[in-house]
Amino acid sequence: MSTHSAVKSSYTFNESVQRYFDKAAGATRHPKGLLEQIKACNSVYQMRFPVKIGNEYKVIEAYRVQHSHHKLPCKGGIRYSEGVNQDEVMALASLMTYKCALVDVPFGGAKGGIKINPRNFSTTQLQRITRRYTTELIKKNFIGPAIDVPAPDYGTGGREMAWILDTYLTFNPGNIDAYGCVTGKPVSQSGIRGRVEATGRGVFYGTKEAMSFKDDMKALGLTPGIEGKTVVVQGLGNVGSHSALIFSEHGAKIIGIAEYEGAIYDPTREGFDVKAVIKHRKDTGSILDFPGAQNIKNSAEALELECDILIPAAIEKVIHGENASRIKAKVIAEAANGPVTPEGEDILLDKGVMILPDMYLNAGGVTVSYFEWLKNLSHVRFGRMDKRFHEYSTRNMIDLVEQTTGKSVTEKQKKFVARGAEEVDIVRSGLEETMIFAYHAIRDTWKRNKKTKDLRTAAFVVAIDKIAKSYVELGIFP
Ligand code: GLU
Repeated sequence: MSTHSAVKSSYTFNESVQRYFDKAAGATRHPKGLLEQIKACNSVYQMRFPVKIGNEYKVIEAYRVQHSHHKLPCKGGIRYSEGVNQDEVMALASLMTYKCALVDVPFGGAKGGIKINPRNFSTTQLQRITRRYTTELIKKNFIGPAIDVPAPDYGTGGREMAWILDTYLTFNPGNIDAYGCVTGKPVSQSGIRGRVEATGRGVFYGTKEAMSFKDDMKALGLTPGIEGKTVVVQGLGNVGSHSALIFSEHGAKIIGIAEYEGAIYDPTREGFDVKAVIKHRKDTGSILDFPGAQNIKNSAEALELECDILIPAAIEKVIHGENASRIKAKVIAEAANGPVTPEGEDILLDKGVMILPDMYLNAGGVTVSYFEWLKNLSHVRFGRMDKRFHEYSTRNMIDLVEQTTGKSVTEKQKKFVARGAEEVDIVRSGLEETMIFAYHAIRDTWKRNKKTKDLRTAAFVVAIDKIAKSYVELGIFP
């Protein structure tokens, strides 16, 4: 453990989220009681259950935290990691509430965690643990399409979501909406196209939007746009690998990539072929020794490489009071949850670094989870009803233009223009719109409210205002 290991902060993860919250709360006019209700975790379920591993029984420590019930269902991933503890799950659940509010996903925040290193267990054992965890959630009414809807997070993916779904279906026969009990499912199990890449794609859309403002970029000494920018990515898991791939597809140069075992640097600064790096790591078991790259043994040092954009896409607290002053990136795109500690943030903001906060930037995952949940409740694939209709009406329009102008269009051109939207096109379009719309709300607050000096504080203010409005309109607060 080097890159992904964190240095101790004087704040626990939950304290640091609360500190960010308090900083923003001071820039709002909401009454104290309301702010305290928004900040508090509503339900914390800590469980211990036995699972037979080999010839022995192992007692597993696990959690599900529902941070806010102001909107239901609650929503948030489940992580499998040795680092799981109650404080961490509470922090992550809180971030989910603010994240959902920011991107207008009508859910309260939640998070789950199982304290295991999945690498130490076989597939059968992981399945047993996952099914038992789901049963515990069912017993306490902590899961369901209208109650609380888990999704993947660090250490979990579509496979685990399918096991959760199957367990839930077994206990809920006859519930027509049961498929909406979990998101991030494989497409064949009522998942949605575009969910796997969603967080990475959202990181791209959000960064692209933030970097499109000329004045903001000028203040950083950068030109607007993503093309030609140098990027360092930490973490080649789901979020990091898709971020790296999508940034490089759009002309950014991925000059550094860090993982547990070490990091690699591209001395030509032209940018790696990210697909080839991913393949190399798959084939050899390590990112190191990629042809043409320089190895960096202590992978934490990769965070300090000279670059325009740094994308921490692994775990929390990797940029802190001890290394923040050595960070040279001008933009930090927080793809992971909580990668910068409050001490680290103070140093970076003093240096004028632009930090795109996690609760905004990585909201692409939950946004597409929301689309998946909608798909499950409507029982129909997006695009199924109108794809052909749009294709035919555009073709009719082209025919009409051909007839009236006497000019003709090739079949290839017609196909290109008249293509009806597939599910993945609709998902990407909804995601892009969501990320752009939310960034404008954050930036407006950042520019207008004198007390919001940075984007994280502005994002918290936007989220707090929306949740406060909801509590007031529900009549819970005056
Ligand atoms: N685990 C992801 C996150 O932290 C996704 C949550 C979801 O899709 O519900 O945002």
